[in-house]
Amino acid sequence: MKIAVDLHIHSALSPCADDDMTPNNIVNMAILKGLDAIAITDHNSCDNVEAVMKIAGGRILVLPGMEVQTREDVHLLCYFEDIKCLLDFDAYIRNFMPQVPNVPHIFGNQYIMDENDQIIGKREDLLLSSLDLSVEEVVQLVLQRGGVVVPAHVNRPSYSIISQLGFIPKNLAFSVLEFSKIDTNYTIYSQGFKHIYSSDAHQLGQILEREMLIDVYDVSLAAIIQWLKGLTVI
Ligand SMILES: [Zn+2]
Ligand SMILES: [Zn+2]
Repeated sequence: MKIAVDLHIHSALSPCADDDMTPNNIVNMAILKGLDAIAITDHNSCDNVEAVMKIAGGRILVLPGMEVQTREDVHLLCYFEDIKCLLDFDAYIRNFMPQVPNVPHIFGNQYIMDENDQIIGKREDLLLSSLDLSVEEVVQLVLQRGGVVVPAHVNRPSYSIISQLGFIPKNLAFSVLEFSKIDTNYTIYSQGFKHIYSSDAHQLGQILEREMLIDVYDVSLAAIIQWLKGLTVI
């Protein structure tokens, strides 16, 4: 069956995202747009994912995720079937975050919110930083926790695996590549991979319409993870 997804959305936790990217606003907008599943993928953090999952309830699937920035300045989307695995990953990678304080009036606010959109905290370290972890190390950490990694916006001239490394390492067994939007020229260069595109929304209106459809065996987080891993399930 085909489901409509947008698997790259930033919440108000990301300094570069609007403050009105609150858990309720994101869920309501995604439902209004007719999506079946979304992922919250904040920069190097996941403090708002649980609130979004709680609000969503059974109305829309929320895939636990994070957009990690590696030592090579590569953005990797890391997805997990289980929130506990994401939280475990988050606790580990915090040790590799540079201690650079955020300056909110320059970079933006990094709000942690609850399911009522109340601000319950903020992250003090600037989340727009490169972790002291390589692409390969991040992939290993995610795989160890049953997750899957999708290189983000590979057609962008910066912070993409191709812009930074110049190639897609074969040994990391990526199955899916993410594009900012459909780019037929670029997809020719990345044959052999499945392609997905996402909004990378930093504003509410940017969340995708019902336009990116993936073929899954049922409407579940497990099925989406399987699709991202490139596994065919009968
Ligand atoms: Zn990015
Ligand atoms: Zn992003």
